[in-house]
Amino acid sequence: MIFLAFYPLLFWALAFWQRRRWQGFALALAGPLPFIVVAARIGDQGMGLLLLSLAAIFGLGGVFIAGQPRRAPGERCLKCDYLLEGNVTGICPECGEPIERPRTRARRLHPSAPSPARAASAPSEADRSSR
Ligand SMILES: [Zn+2]
Repeated sequence: MIFLAFYPLLFWALAFWQRRRWQGFALALAGPLPFIVVAARIGDQGMGLLLLSLAAIFGLGGVFIAGQPRRAPGERCLKCDYLLEGNVTGICPECGEPIERPRTRARRLHPSAPSPARAASAPSEADRSSR
């Protein structure tokens, strides 16, 4: 019986992982199929209806989860989740949190290059229009 609780959760997690992709919708619709097969073969009509109802809830929930938006591409502030795409100041314009970026190879080879934190203090046009 506990299997009946975890089985949909597994498919919902997989549908969430593949959300907004055809695989996510395929997983969401494939998950309830065993319920439908069992409901069709079971002799008890009441139990069959119960299984079909569960399959419908399971499938609709999965489709809803699969339809959830994927996160917008681009780097985001770790503190406030502000989209930092195109930010050159090194500071989040929303909350002032310093942006931690992994040091790049080019940066290590040219330590004299201006640091992103020192490059500009005021938010640029790209920062203001990114929201
Ligand atoms: Zn922030």
